[in-house]
Amino acid sequence: MSNGPFYQGDCGCGAVTLMATGAPLGAADCDCPDCCGEDGSATRLLFWPEVSVQFAGGFDELEHHRARHGGEKLRCRRCQEWVLTIHEEAGIMALPAEVLPEMTEPVVDDAALLDRLGHR
Ligand SMILES: [Zn+2]
Ligand SMILES: [Zn+2]
Repeated sequence: MSNGPFYQGDCGCGAVTLMATGAPLGAADCDCPDCCGEDGSATRLLFWPEVSVQFAGGFDELEHHRARHGGEKLRCRRCQEWVLTIHEEAGIMALPAEVLPEMTEPVVDDAALLDRLGHR
């Protein structure tokens, strides 16, 4: 295990908890049909290497949905908050920034990740 920084996150009701270590690959605002809010607003996503993100609790509370862009969207079945999207082939996890409030360091925008992962 590295001793790098780590960030804890959870869903709205706290049933699902997770941890990200190290640094994200990049960030982007996405308003694709899978990522936009109910009001159509874009969601800020942080992209992490899959190995950097671990669930700490509530794994059994996760609902899996196949997303239009090919990834797999995971939601808490209790509060319905979207906690992350797995892009398995790319080995990348996309987390809404609000799931990781501890991650306050600036992250470089890399909109090319949205193209690469099929969000647009
Ligand atoms: Zn929840
Ligand atoms: Zn998207």
